[in-house]
Amino acid sequence: MIIVRSLQKMQALAIKWQKQGRSIGFVPTMGSLHQGHVSLIKKARRDNSVLAASLFVNPSQFGPKEDLAQYPRPFFRDKRICRENGVDVLFCPREQEMYPKGFNTWISVDDLSKPLCGAFRPKHFRGVATVVAKLFQLVLPTRAYFGQKDFQQLRVIERMVQDLHLPVKIVGCPIVREQSGLALSSRNSYLTRAQRLAAVNIYSALRAAEEVIKSKSYVSEREVRRAAEVVLRKARGLRIQYLSVVEPSTLKPLTRVTGNALVAAAVFAGKTRLIDNVLIRKS
Ligand code: AMP
Repeated sequence: MIIVRSLQKMQALAIKWQKQGRSIGFVPTMGSLHQGHVSLIKKARRDNSVLAASLFVNPSQFGPKEDLAQYPRPFFRDKRICRENGVDVLFCPREQEMYPKGFNTWISVDDLSKPLCGAFRPKHFRGVATVVAKLFQLVLPTRAYFGQKDFQQLRVIERMVQDLHLPVKIVGCPIVREQSGLALSSRNSYLTRAQRLAAVNIYSALRAAEEVIKSKSYVSEREVRRAAEVVLRKARGLRIQYLSVVEPSTLKPLTRVTGNALVAAAVFAGKTRLIDNVLIRKS
């Protein structure tokens, strides 16, 4: 595995691979890798002849009061995990090169960026779409892999790729969870033991919502939300930021659930914000 920091070097390498007719798999990450990331890397490894992963804690997707400075950056561990899982190139661009002085171009995927997390993190998806578009220009992937853990992010990227005619196939991958049900996240490392125990209830709440939806052919959004909220309210130390039932492709709120639905939540355990979701297919 080689480590590339220079943008120009990365792009030159990708152009060379393209000329050789090789398929390029790409897994963009912010590092602090866990088994969720590894599942994307393994799938990308199976599907492609060369594999690039990136480590970049993207400042433009963090709000002013968020955890950019604190975000864990265990570089040597991440490097080992990538090497052990068949990454060929680990791309670690420098912030100054990604966002040089005068940087002034942004990509906004308007409607999909407004609900759910977007309502509380106003510039987040603009930062995500922009950095992913930039990374795509540098890595020139045939296929890029994203987790359904960040379901809204996945939808934003899919829309961007479609709208801008980007020649890359977006592959969505299932959420990897601990045995307890807690979705793996780099931010889980912020949790105390007690908060971790409480956080397990996020998935239990989403499962309760899923059960209500699956048990009836017609159910109101209020009833679904109530089923999940009961579980979350019983857990000590959790604060719900949002709990929403939306149509999975548009992310528009549903008032009643008759077909497919996404139940998504953002919940604070102390100061740590955790997100999770379940996708329910009925039709
Ligand atoms: P991040 O490093 O948090 O930006 O995540 C990089 C990629 O890994 C994104 O596509 C995430 O959706 C994905 N990811 C993060 N956590 C999980 C998980 N628990 N299961 C599956 N994919 C995940």
